[in-house]
Amino acid sequence: MNIDAHQHFWMYNQHEYGWIDDSMESLRRNFLPNDLKPELDHNGIQGCVTVQARQTLEETRWLLDLAEHSKFILGVVGWVDLQSAEVNSQLKAFARNPKLVGVRHIVQSEPDDRFLLRPEFLRGIAALEEFDLAYDILIYPKHLRVAAEFAHKFPRQRFVLDHLAKPPIKDRQIDSWESGIGELAALPNVYCKLSGLVTEADWHHWKPEDLTPYLDVAFEAFGAERLMFGSDWPVCLAAAPYSRVFSTVKNYLARQAVNVRDAVLGGNAQRFWKLKA
Ligand SMILES: [Zn+2]
Repeated sequence: MNIDAHQHFWMYNQHEYGWIDDSMESLRRNFLPNDLKPELDHNGIQGCVTVQARQTLEETRWLLDLAEHSKFILGVVGWVDLQSAEVNSQLKAFARNPKLVGVRHIVQSEPDDRFLLRPEFLRGIAALEEFDLAYDILIYPKHLRVAAEFAHKFPRQRFVLDHLAKPPIKDRQIDSWESGIGELAALPNVYCKLSGLVTEADWHHWKPEDLTPYLDVAFEAFGAERLMFGSDWPVCLAAAPYSRVFSTVKNYLARQAVNVRDAVLGGNAQRFWKLKA
């Protein structure tokens, strides 16, 4: 089974999606399950994991509601206020729903570069294990060392790094990002999504070869058992149509054994989030 391990839905309005700037004009519309389904079908992908984009409890409720009505949405990575003293009751309210498989906080936008290590945030992460929820790490390369220190504190917690921490592909920089990835990948409870790479490349001129060195680092560091394909649709549309995003990873995997391809294109995501097919 092929699975898209990372995509978003939204009902667009400028107030809540202010990060969609003029350069991403084509993203200023609604993106709903009916828009995604044909893309998945066309590419032979049977299911997806949808990820929060807004930091509200309402967002989590809305995504779970979409998942209830669309069978192909196998899991939801929602948002709860991990820094709040109420985190347990917020988790309790959602955790009854088996489609909630993980939680994410938009750490990349926090002004404090050591946000992940704040005591209130650590307390929130400690609450996830009881509810058997994974945590999505959304950061920039500058946060990788702190993320390793963070994940090291929770050896039984499942973590997945989003978008390879957004390597500077457009600037063709790799060294400092690569050493940070090595530190985080050394922890066996951290997985990584092969997602969001086209958005870090030159949107108008990127070629699959531009992504190859970064995919090589990911395979070297995490190994094929801890990597999963994600499209980051519809954000990816700023740089490439869905099919081109998927075929880039699929073609990269073409030289690998069939069990490796199956694992990265779906099996690892299914196992990591315990998704029901
Ligand atoms: Zn995303």
